[in-house]
Amino acid sequence: MISKGNKLYSILNIKCPQCHEGAFLERKIYDFSAFTKVRKACPNCQLNYHVEPSFYYGSMYVAYALGVAIMIAVIVLNLLLFETFSFIRTFGMVVGAVIISAPLMNALAKIIWANFFFHYKKDWKDKIKA
Ligand SMILES: [Zn+2]
Repeated sequence: MISKGNKLYSILNIKCPQCHEGAFLERKIYDFSAFTKVRKACPNCQLNYHVEPSFYYGSMYVAYALGVAIMIAVIVLNLLLFETFSFIRTFGMVVGAVIISAPLMNALAKIIWANFFFHYKKDWKDKIKA
């Protein structure tokens, strides 16, 4: 199984990229009152999640890649499930899948983006004491 120290652990659990324990988002993913809002810092290791203004704008590149992956998956699924190809049906399924998964994809894009720049530190407790 994926354990702490692996970036996938942080991404799949949406936890702090440095300690893999603290929460990354303000609220749950499908809580629309704070739509995938990233916390200011990790409640566990105090890692500043916002190293510069508009830091998470770059996560749009990751969100785009995730959106394309969903689109390809839906098209392949559509080709496997139905005998005839219908552009309208496929387009509707892609739009529906993207809308339904938008909050999850947005959160995943941000945590993946954060994992590009922050790395797991086993000794994060020593860093805080110093
Ligand atoms: Zn942390």
